[in-house]
Amino acid sequence: MSATWPVIQSVRGAWLALCRHPACKTQHLIGFSAELHEVERLAAAHMKDIQPPQPTRDALAEVLNRLTAARAAQGLSLRQLAARMPYRSSAVSAWETGARTPMLDALAAWSDALGYRLTLIPIGDNRP
Ligand SMILES: [Zn+2]
Repeated sequence: MSATWPVIQSVRGAWLALCRHPACKTQHLIGFSAELHEVERLAAAHMKDIQPPQPTRDALAEVLNRLTAARAAQGLSLRQLAARMPYRSSAVSAWETGARTPMLDALAAWSDALGYRLTLIPIGDNRP
């Protein structure tokens, strides 16, 4: 279970699921029921709705992993890397550990500071 998985808790005899996924901006109630399995079903259905398709998630994870690996490969400290862009080393650390997802402009700055350019590549006919 990731840190963004809904919180399921029992409140006065009812089960409820709370969403705290970043894609939803604010924490919200997904649903409630007297039956735990029904609340789990609602939570899973909601997560399926808001999460991007697997190939997109994999591609984003690869970008983050490659940038994280690039800093190590170039022998840069967090502080040295942060000095090359308008972000604090604590922000870079949070992106590297996955505690936070960088916004698009931050991702571009992070890439640039490590000598990479973000680009789009057509999927072509090998779409899964
Ligand atoms: Zn949600």
